[in-house]
Amino acid sequence: MSPSLQIDETTLRAIVDQVVRNLSGAPAVAQAACAAPAVVAPRREGRFGVFGDVAAACAAAHQAFRQLQPLGLEGRAKVIEIVKTLAEKNAVEWGRIEFEETKIGRLAHKVEKLQIVKLVPGIEWLRPYALSGDHGITLEEHTPFGVIGAITPVTHSVPTICGNIVSMVAAGNAVVFNPHPGGAKVAALAVRAINEAIHASIGIEHLVCTLAEPTLDTFNALCAAEPVRMLCVTGGPGVVAAAMKSGKRAVCAGPGNPPVVVDGTGNLSKAAADIIKGASYDNNLLCIGEKQVFVLESCAERFLNELARAGAAKLTGAQLDRLTNVAFTTAKDAGGCSHPVLNRKLVGADASVLAQHAGATVSADCPMLFAETDLDHPFVMEEQMMPMIPVVRVKTFNDAVAAALKSEHGYKHSAILHSLNVEHMSQMARTLDTTLFVKNGASVAGLGLGGEGYLNYSIATTTGEGIATPLPFPRTRRCVMVDNLRIY
Ligand code: NAD
Repeated sequence: MSPSLQIDETTLRAIVDQVVRNLSGAPAVAQAACAAPAVVAPRREGRFGVFGDVAAACAAAHQAFRQLQPLGLEGRAKVIEIVKTLAEKNAVEWGRIEFEETKIGRLAHKVEKLQIVKLVPGIEWLRPYALSGDHGITLEEHTPFGVIGAITPVTHSVPTICGNIVSMVAAGNAVVFNPHPGGAKVAALAVRAINEAIHASIGIEHLVCTLAEPTLDTFNALCAAEPVRMLCVTGGPGVVAAAMKSGKRAVCAGPGNPPVVVDGTGNLSKAAADIIKGASYDNNLLCIGEKQVFVLESCAERFLNELARAGAAKLTGAQLDRLTNVAFTTAKDAGGCSHPVLNRKLVGADASVLAQHAGATVSADCPMLFAETDLDHPFVMEEQMMPMIPVVRVKTFNDAVAAALKSEHGYKHSAILHSLNVEHMSQMARTLDTTLFVKNGASVAGLGLGGEGYLNYSIATTTGEGIATPLPFPRTRRCVMVDNLRIY
């Protein structure tokens, strides 16, 4: 007679759940139903970069970093080519999946943001610095940190991941992502596909890792993990502050609230079209996107007419009030002062959906709403990330710049000016001191889309490195040869 094993239903369910998790690489959840440690198999290592726990992901990334080192610049160039090619080839599919998972923004722009990953600069950006003199030669070279921990936003999950990989691998590093939970599934899908292609090309399986179920706990574990030598954070104020407290070097691409000034010296119909183009892009999810406009009284009426003529829909005061009541709630800070809190459910919503909340009807393809407000309105002072642009009339250019400065909150992120007056350009540039300052174009021109320049989705505003290139991601090493090799 064969021995029989008695297993109650709870234990059996726990075993099945654990096996399924192990197969998918997802993390084990410590809960009552899993309380059968004696019979639960150890968690299997993730495949192609998708991991259930931080320690395993970091260890795998560190090993991959070691494997990349002997492959030199040629190996890094192959990885970058793979990322750019896959982003373009899979743009329609990954864009759709990201749109379905995050439920924010516009599908066409999700696709486009992947198609243009090819504009992100790679290893060509890293140039050594050389000195030659009576005492020989010195070469300062870029050398990798090792494993970088990266946080990505829900507003552009896979585009940020692809851009980060290009910058970080160009500098010779491996990376572990803690993506925003709202875009983590598509992040895992893209990371897996990228690693499969890297593995097929150069034999490394985990150069790019991601957490299958990211949380604030995994973020904290990633910041603290020993193999993680530096952090790169793209997100709002909370995560930037948390990363900067970690004690590790952090490249922080923080929040913005980009103001626009229209002084009436330029072409108002072009200014209106440019503002709509930038503010409606992906329903205003871009951190560089136009969020509020300050227009001089002298040209305000004509400018508002141009916005309507270019396809934006104007809300009345009553409609704006209705929308504001849905878009913001009120909370009290530690000092007891009330402040508006953004309703995340409306972030990245279509203009037509916002219009419904306002009690207005606009066509489904209406790109943007606008309304006249005062300076202290929540739509002006909060980073609303919606295609609803508040327009504030001001008497003088000085007033416009002062209002723009107040609304930007010292983030030093982005600002836009429509003007032909060079002194106005200099005054606003000096006063706001932003990382990006676009004159006479849409905000996206600041990322090379309609203006000169290169692209990336992490703009290191808080820590000052600017639009990400490979340059923030290596260390500098000096190599000195004394009294030799300088032959003349
Ligand atoms: P978010 O700050 O809500 O989330 C970003 C990531 O941080 C997510 O992974 C989230 O889970 C995590 N997170 C949030 N608070 C945290 C905390 N206290 N501790 C640890 N982790 C935390 O941002 P989002 O909604 O995904 O993206 C929008 C924000 O990101 C906007 O403020 C936007 O301006 C900014 N952003 C900046 C850039 C840039 O390049 N400067 C680019 C894109 C987005």
